[in-house]
Amino acid sequence: MSRVAILVVAGGVLLALVMGSGPVNSPRANSPESAPRARAIAAIKQPKAPTDPKPTKKVNCRRAKCVALTFDDGPVSQTTEVLRALRQSGARATFFVLGNEAVHNAQLLRRMVRGGNAVGNHSWDHAMFTRLSSAAIRREVQRTQRVITAATGTTNNPVRVPYGENDARIRGAVTRSVHAPTVLWSVDPLDWKYRNSATVWRNVMRAVRPGAIVLLHDIHPTTRAAVPRIIRSLQARGYVLVTVPELFNGHLKAGRTYFRR
Ligand SMILES: [Zn+2]
Repeated sequence: MSRVAILVVAGGVLLALVMGSGPVNSPRANSPESAPRARAIAAIKQPKAPTDPKPTKKVNCRRAKCVALTFDDGPVSQTTEVLRALRQSGARATFFVLGNEAVHNAQLLRRMVRGGNAVGNHSWDHAMFTRLSSAAIRREVQRTQRVITAATGTTNNPVRVPYGENDARIRGAVTRSVHAPTVLWSVDPLDWKYRNSATVWRNVMRAVRPGAIVLLHDIHPTTRAAVPRIIRSLQARGYVLVTVPELFNGHLKAGRTYFRR
């Protein structure tokens, strides 16, 4: 997501300068006089900022053998290890973040999105929603969404309720709060229980199927250490590692719950 500032040089020569940071909509780009120029330059292939990772290829998961790795309960500073492994192998994943961690890690959230990954909402502090009033559920979800939006500009991010609690009341409260889909999982290697990278890897590889959503936790060193091998093994079996929205070709519906494709 490079920020492009447009300079109109005398004589009608246009230069597109890629800036490392800055507001999405600069006053210059929004000014009425620059609008035709902006449209003209939109047709020109814009160079990528040097710090951006390789652009990710579009995948059609109706045809490709797709799988979505998901990472819950972070982000923590060591989440960079997972992001590095994903980037180095051209893979993407979805991070279901806690608001009270994400609020201190806005840079990490931006880096996730820059790398083509998706960010999901895993509540503010991992509360047990069955014990909360609907108003309290709303606060958990909306507060986290605000942090995600402030960091990345994305809205209506998919929700994964802590502990996968997803009864009708909770689902209703979540949908009224953020108008987003709920995403659970179809493969659970129990990485919080088996703090052993080889076991986590084996459990994933045994259970994975095309269209699977895999539950992992980037807060555990043993899980992070297993990620490069999981990615390699899945790719060796012909899997394309995509985000949850990509797994459904972008057709996730608010209020619905997804376990797998
Ligand atoms: Zn969790």
